[in-house]
Amino acid sequence: MLFTPTVIKNLLKKPATRLYPFTVREPFPNYRGELYIDIDGCIFCGTCSRKCPSQCIEVDKNEGTWTCNPHACVYCGICRDSCPTKCLHMKDVHRKPMTERIMMVEKGEPPKPKKKAAAAEAPKAADKKAEPAKADDKKAEPATADKAKKK
Ligand code: SF4
Ligand code: SF4
Repeated sequence: MLFTPTVIKNLLKKPATRLYPFTVREPFPNYRGELYIDIDGCIFCGTCSRKCPSQCIEVDKNEGTWTCNPHACVYCGICRDSCPTKCLHMKDVHRKPMTERIMMVEKGEPPKPKKKAAAAEAPKAADKKAEPAKADDKKAEPATADKAKKK
């Protein structure tokens, strides 16, 4: 009868469990739920893909695509924590059960390679330099004409 006080105490206490799914616990702060990406912030560096332990992310820098297999994700949050631009986020809920397999495919704007970007800028810069010279030519024309008249 040593445990009688414990039995009585437990009978008077609230149950330690919840009637899930009717009663759902509030999510914790920094809860690691469904992964999503703000594709406008992605620079397609591939860090998330390299760090993912379940290898469920693929990044194509040339095409500007970020692809994730959500069924293989283990919600570890490593990709989110290692993203240099902080464009990966996790919701405070888990993904709902599905009857079909899906792939999360996001298309963004890949950054221009530095050499190509510089090559594209070079003609513009050359045009800007050439423009004042043309204006000088126009100014010079009447002077030449005057000289011709004088002759
Ligand atoms: S949360 Fe973890 S398992 Fe899921 S995509 Fe990110 S790194 Fe991979
Ligand atoms: S780590 Fe971030 S910026 Fe780099 S490819 Fe992944 S989502 Fe994009």
